[in-house]
Amino acid sequence: MDAEITIIGAGVVGLAIAQKLSADFRDVFVVEKHLTFGQETSSRNSEVIHAGLYYPEGSLKSRLCVEGKKLLYDFCKEHEVPYKNCGKLVVATTSDEIQIIEGIQKTALKNGVGDLVILDRKDVAELEPDVFALAALHSPSTGIVDTHLLMKSYETITVNNGGQIAYGNEVTGIKRIADGYEITLSSPGDDKYTFTSRVVINSGGLTSDRISEMAGLHDDKLKITFCKGEYFRLKPPKNRLINRLVYPVPVHNLEGIGIHVTIEMDGGVKLGPDVTYLESNIYDYKVDPSKQEAFYRSVSKFLPFIGFDDLMPEMAGIRPKIQRPGDPVKDFYIMEESRRGFPGFINLIGIESPGLTASLAVANYVRNLILI
Ligand SMILES: Cc1cc2nc3c(=O)[nH]c(=O)nc-3n(C[C@H](O)[C@H](O)[C@H](O)COP(=O)(O)OP(=O)(O)OC[C@H]3O[C@@H](n4cnc5c(N)ncnc54)[C@H](O)[C@@H]3O)c2cc1C
Repeated sequence: MDAEITIIGAGVVGLAIAQKLSADFRDVFVVEKHLTFGQETSSRNSEVIHAGLYYPEGSLKSRLCVEGKKLLYDFCKEHEVPYKNCGKLVVATTSDEIQIIEGIQKTALKNGVGDLVILDRKDVAELEPDVFALAALHSPSTGIVDTHLLMKSYETITVNNGGQIAYGNEVTGIKRIADGYEITLSSPGDDKYTFTSRVVINSGGLTSDRISEMAGLHDDKLKITFCKGEYFRLKPPKNRLINRLVYPVPVHNLEGIGIHVTIEMDGGVKLGPDVTYLESNIYDYKVDPSKQEAFYRSVSKFLPFIGFDDLMPEMAGIRPKIQRPGDPVKDFYIMEESRRGFPGFINLIGIESPGLTASLAVANYVRNLILI
């Protein structure tokens, strides 16, 4: 075999896996179609270290988020990756929503998040004088991280451990062979290169379903539907009026967790993301300026100081959803595929939020799936 382990995709999850496995195994190889890391979902998100409030009890999303949050804070401290443990408020602006935040507190407790406190209107005003809320759930362990430098750090560790990363190489073929897989790479000049690997880890994000199919694993339940999330920027100086993340209550099936306020490491503030399922799986990162009114209306319920003209279009990301519109919440799919006749093939499909937060816990989970 040319490689012991091949990881497809250098997003935050693929790189987290690479830094872990390159410490434990020789011949770890990462292949990425873009010329550098994190050019897709990993650089188009809210950069929030989630506490793990909403996900169904016992789900991978819940377990890996709670475990990953702690690992991520420790990693950032040890490797000097910029982060801020700024905390978050989930605000109730109606009396019905107070019951919802009480329900979130109970779910979170079952998930091992026991540090949430319900604040009344006066307490909220002390923390965030310019935010309107009848009550709010305060999550002190939520934070933000510089995702680019986090990925850079994962990349550096991988390379220092002796792992190799081949940028500008797209996996275009995977064939099952006697004791592993034959992988075909295509590079921009349409050069083709084939090599063999005992283990293949599919961390291909938005196209992870297609990579799995390439190997011969067809499963309609794992088909990804692109789901866009757009952001608007809150123009200065009003960004200075907010000190922590502020979220509305989430929609019932967690298609998204509501247009929220995300603060950035440099003090900038963006609002979003919304939820738009795309009709076909195209990489559509355009922000529709006509959505400004809807964003303004949505956040002005809890940010009364914002005017329509304080917003400007910012950017968009795409969620790799295996949850179709109207479906109940779907979990991450992380599976070693021996039972389907593909030993040593590990699929990661539907790694939407909280994939960034969970990245180090996902890496540990994948490590335990490797049988060699
Ligand atoms: C709008 C939005 C907001 C979010 N906010 C948060 C948040 O605040 N906190 C949080 O924890 N999570 C958040 N997430 C989720 C988080 O961003 C993702 O879970 C995470 O980035 C997924 O990382 P990944 O490595 O699996 O995928 P990606 O970043 O998509 O990486 C996959 C990589 O695989 C490569 N690839 C694909 N096919 C091939 C191929 N055939 N050959 C070679 N390379 C290939 C791609 O080029 C890409 O670089 C958000 C997501 C979105 C969309």
